[in-house]
Amino acid sequence: MRKCDVVIVGAGPAGIFTALEMLRRGSAASIIIVEKGQPVEKRYCPKARTGRCMNCKPYCHITTGFSGAGAFSDGKLSLSCEVGGDLPSLVGEQLVQDTIGYTDGIYLEFGADTHIEGVADPEAVKEIRKRAISAGLRLVDCPIRHLGTEKAQALYYAIEQTLLDSGVEIIFGNECVDVILEGDACRGIRIAGKAGEEEIFAEHTVIATGRRGADWLERVCADHKIAHQPGTVDIGVRVEVRNEIMEHVNEVLYESKLIGYPKPFKNKVRTFCQNPGGFVAQENYDNDLAVVNGHSYKEIKSSNTNLAILCSHNFSEPFNQPIAYAQKVGELTNMLGAGHILVQRFGDILDGKRTWAKELSQSNIRPTLPDAVAGDITAAMPYRSMINIINFIQAVDQVVPGFASYETLLYSPELKFYSNRIRMNERFETNIQGLHCLGDSSGWTRGLMMSSVMGVLMARQLS
Ligand SMILES: Cc1cc2nc3c(=O)[nH]c(=O)nc-3n(C[C@H](O)[C@H](O)[C@H](O)COP(=O)(O)OP(=O)(O)OC[C@H]3O[C@@H](n4cnc5c(N)ncnc54)[C@H](O)[C@@H]3O)c2cc1C
Repeated sequence: MRKCDVVIVGAGPAGIFTALEMLRRGSAASIIIVEKGQPVEKRYCPKARTGRCMNCKPYCHITTGFSGAGAFSDGKLSLSCEVGGDLPSLVGEQLVQDTIGYTDGIYLEFGADTHIEGVADPEAVKEIRKRAISAGLRLVDCPIRHLGTEKAQALYYAIEQTLLDSGVEIIFGNECVDVILEGDACRGIRIAGKAGEEEIFAEHTVIATGRRGADWLERVCADHKIAHQPGTVDIGVRVEVRNEIMEHVNEVLYESKLIGYPKPFKNKVRTFCQNPGGFVAQENYDNDLAVVNGHSYKEIKSSNTNLAILCSHNFSEPFNQPIAYAQKVGELTNMLGAGHILVQRFGDILDGKRTWAKELSQSNIRPTLPDAVAGDITAAMPYRSMINIINFIQAVDQVVPGFASYETLLYSPELKFYSNRIRMNERFETNIQGLHCLGDSSGWTRGLMMSSVMGVLMARQLS
């Protein structure tokens, strides 16, 4: 049994920025972080050596360990409060924008590149916006600071050392299995690791378990009546085109954040996580679900650009399990790809046929995810999502000519589990005294900067 003032579950950006900001504010509180994975310097994805996903057990190093899903991520820091989740609706836009500036300063102190993408050529941005308007799309202004996957790891290593040197205890290789409640108050957590189970008692418990901890947190909420509401789940595809197609928007904006409400459903559809010269990647969740993602390195560049196109789905009556819904879509897609990510040419989708492996080699574009399997994503994608995606791609084609080409590649399933939004006030207090939920698992954030900002704001409440 251990005791501390603040116990943080999850060493992703939300968790580590909570601890870091408490130290920066001179807090004397004792802090323990419990992290299921390894220190950042011990995280290693065997795919770099084997060329294919090895489905590592007991967890995937891409999403688990110090710095969370941030370590191997592209490290694109979105510097606008319009991007990265709904935190502004909880604490106010101005506070979030100001805290983005402050948190960006911390990233710079730890070695982030000083260059900002998307602000150099306002006239060219105007031209792109004009085309977006005539295509019925909205272009969101969002300056981006790009860390790059390899630089992000060095930066988070420096933060890890700062926390350790300042006396923060980080318990790696241990998983939080439950929270300890006494009536309506949280007294700490129960953890499990190789050495068995242990209890950690704390005045404040901060849960920041990220996207892959979202379904665990949902169970904890149900077991302990922690107030929450079903949130949104995003279902979509990862699109990959040759760099030549995206050249202009890549140069002007780096990331083109476009939002549309295509007919006939008029659901919100958006672009997300654009990676010029990047690589499509596979992530595996603990329940063996293989999902697609994308990233880019600062130095190593591919000939392609990838980005996600996502459709938001909400449920109410009689079904309100968005995570379970998206998981079923993912499982069905994985089944059709024999456990691999499926890839299909856009033109084949319009022609109503599957893509064959030999047809991929007839294109200008070569898939950057070599173990993706050519097939038919329409056999697993819900009708509404598929129509939304097709119509959105055709609208983007008016902004980026060539985007809706026959050879454009669509990878599936791209799923974002943001659901289960924890009900909290602006001080991040849940209905359970002493319990706070942060970052992507809280349902309030969707990205590196916003989850880091939530950590910073949490620290200001705790110190
Ligand atoms: C491949 C990839 C690329 C990405 N690229 C970008 C990008 O360019 N820009 C951007 O803004 N965002 C990007 N993201 C998303 C971004 O990484 C996340 O939004 C962000 O990391 C969320 O931070 P978090 O602290 O909420 O959670 P996470 O970073 O997910 O961290 C949660 C941590 O909690 C740990 N954990 C989970 N459950 C438990 C438990 N029960 N007990 C103990 N520990 C637990 C996990 O191991 C993990 O380390 C990317 C994500 C991926 C996977």
